[in-house]
Amino acid sequence: MALKFLNTLSRSVEEFVPLDPSSNAVKMYCCGPTVYDFGHIGNFRTFVFADLVRRYLQFRGYAVTHVMNITDVEDKIIRRVRETGLGLREYVSQFENAFLEDLKTLGCVLPHHLPRATEFIPEMIQMIDALMKRGIAYQAADGSVYFSIEKYQGCGCRYGQLVNLNFDQMRAGERVASDEYSKDALADFALWKARVPDDGDVFWASPWGEGRPGWHIECSAMSMKLLGPSFDLHLGGEDLAFPHHEDEIAQSEGATGKPFVKYWLHGAHLLVEGKKMSKSLGNFFTLRDLTGKGYGGREIRYLLISAHYRETFNFTLEGLEGARTAIGRLDECLAKLREIAGATKAPADKKLIHDFTTALDEDFNVASAWGTVFEWVREMNRLIAASGNYIPNPAANPADGVFASNRLDAEKAASALAAWEQLDSVLGLGRKGEAEAPPEIQALLEERQAARKAKDFKRSDAVRDELKVKGWLIEDTAKGPRLKQA
Ligand SMILES: [Zn+2]
Repeated sequence: MALKFLNTLSRSVEEFVPLDPSSNAVKMYCCGPTVYDFGHIGNFRTFVFADLVRRYLQFRGYAVTHVMNITDVEDKIIRRVRETGLGLREYVSQFENAFLEDLKTLGCVLPHHLPRATEFIPEMIQMIDALMKRGIAYQAADGSVYFSIEKYQGCGCRYGQLVNLNFDQMRAGERVASDEYSKDALADFALWKARVPDDGDVFWASPWGEGRPGWHIECSAMSMKLLGPSFDLHLGGEDLAFPHHEDEIAQSEGATGKPFVKYWLHGAHLLVEGKKMSKSLGNFFTLRDLTGKGYGGREIRYLLISAHYRETFNFTLEGLEGARTAIGRLDECLAKLREIAGATKAPADKKLIHDFTTALDEDFNVASAWGTVFEWVREMNRLIAASGNYIPNPAANPADGVFASNRLDAEKAASALAAWEQLDSVLGLGRKGEAEAPPEIQALLEERQAARKAKDFKRSDAVRDELKVKGWLIEDTAKGPRLKQA
């Protein structure tokens, strides 16, 4: 059995073989957030998928190095910094911290490296310099440095590896300065943007004058600095394939002359309530909007990884209710298994692990993997129900011996649990009650404590009821109050 998935670069399903087949090391990079606001669930679909891929590679025995960048300088950020009058770091750090908290809420394992773009400016300058020396980049009259697609192609390199581009529509000498542009605007893109008054204090010195890096060069410089000029796997949302990822390939291969990435994985879009997410339609949700409605990280994570990553997924509040029911069934079954297993330890049930692995080996088919999990839950529940309190006595009744083999004894329960632990190292649901309460729920708990202290019991009861509606119970313990998921 081998892991296979669709490599966007070759547009075909390929067996995964690390760049260095003699080692089990895998280097992967996922484009991280642009920290200009709170992350929405469309963003988190990609990050949870990256977490699943990393966890699954580890489950398959690979030693993964996982890098996710933090884009902390870019067009949208500069605009917000200008509007708010805050300093760059001051502005972005609130959203950077929120992003890391959100990853935790969703049960994601933190990437090994979370490089900030602003801390890799010398590496970016070095790369642009290499592109200048190879004649692939040029400084335009506006002082900015651009990547020349024509010169790049002239070196025998291919622009348009991830997407098919129509070069007939390309007009000679056309340039684009903004970080995001459409496929129709196929043009030379900015590597280094000359300082303009709107940039305020956000600028660095460079051989081409004061300015700031373009967004695309950031990922190339950070990924290659931390993972080397060629690495195994690059992930991102499909909306980043062009121009961002295409430009990453062009800059990197243009600068080093080496193949940049062996496998590319792109996750599909997310619809919310059947439509593209938009603030005007009222279907735009940050993760915090959802936890504020009382949904937990486990439920949201489950829903985000319930469908195949290449399918456009329709995220709905009804789906979250369904996730709550599904996780409830799973938790209930696990609780019973723990009760039956007691302190007994046993080797993991091989069949469950085999079926789960077979599902995920096929292009990370997580929908099929969940199918395996819930089939197993049904089977376990059937065995638990059949066992009841009946104690077989084969000595008195030989038929009881046959019956006993169908019973779920402590050893079988322990074996099932050991297998589940391995599955959950990939699925990342953790145990019920383990999930930490999100900040707004914590804030309600603090409000309740303050009300109690002020002897405003009407208010404290009202907050307790509000928490209950949001799915959290307060447990008063000797160490003070504790939140528990209902
Ligand atoms: Zn990127």
